[in-house]
Amino acid sequence: MLKGKTAVVTGGTRGIGFSIAKKYLENGANVAITGSRQETVEKALAQLTEYKERVMGVWPDLCSPEETAAAFASVRERFGSFDILANNAGISSRTSLYEYTLDEFSKILDINLKAVFVCSQAAARLMKEQGGGVIINASSMVGEYGQPSGCGYPATKFAVNGLTKSLARELAKDHIRVNAVAPGVTKTDMVAALPREMVERISAGIPLGRPGEPEDVANAYLYLASDMASYVTGIVLRVDGAAMT
Ligand code: NAD
Repeated sequence: MLKGKTAVVTGGTRGIGFSIAKKYLENGANVAITGSRQETVEKALAQLTEYKERVMGVWPDLCSPEETAAAFASVRERFGSFDILANNAGISSRTSLYEYTLDEFSKILDINLKAVFVCSQAAARLMKEQGGGVIINASSMVGEYGQPSGCGYPATKFAVNGLTKSLARELAKDHIRVNAVAPGVTKTDMVAALPREMVERISAGIPLGRPGEPEDVANAYLYLASDMASYVTGIVLRVDGAAMT
């Protein structure tokens, strides 16, 4: 579905991001994964050796426009185009408002929101030059409902939805589609860090009867990146088994 296309997956070292990278590789794309450290990027690449001709790693500071633009340019240079950006990297929070420090709030804004802006800008500049592309952002079901602690996390996901819908409208004239994927509870390290009772309680309320697998979410990223979604832009696609918080 993506033969000959080039994709960057931020936070592609594990969890949903690793699954998206693998799904894109299986479907013929060239893929660059990013991570916060060279070491974790290299560890992820070591699990993708069967695709070594079509996969590479970069580790820019995603909040630095200069580092990010240079990393994306190096991806285009290696593979010859820049077609798909999956803005997947993110962190979560369960901190209560009473305990929340401004530093912690700034940190989650940085990676969950500011990095989405920085990466989208760098990617859109390359995509515009080549006549189009696709951007897919990581939202969450809590970007619709909020959550009872860790207010910084849903705040960033509401903002990601706003950025998605606005950029879809702004960039349509440049043939760049912009969408978001809003997973429910998905089995990754992010969820493993939550209290077990909390995960069990949330899982019990999911009409489809199970939490999501990273591959369930990666399938949505595949669809939105592909030409099957050529008339789809500005949506937040829920992949949550009809869960509600
Ligand atoms: P994860 O913790 O397993 O992986 C997060 C990825 O982001 C890692 O590759 C990590 O290296 C990267 N990352 C974190 N901070 C970074 C930084 N400062 N710079 C560069 N990379 C950084 O998380 P996940 O569960 O796979 O989540 C992926 C995305 O999906 C996130 O945006 C998350 O908010 C969203 N999401 C996850 C769930 C879930 O239940 N797992 C639900 C809804 C939304």
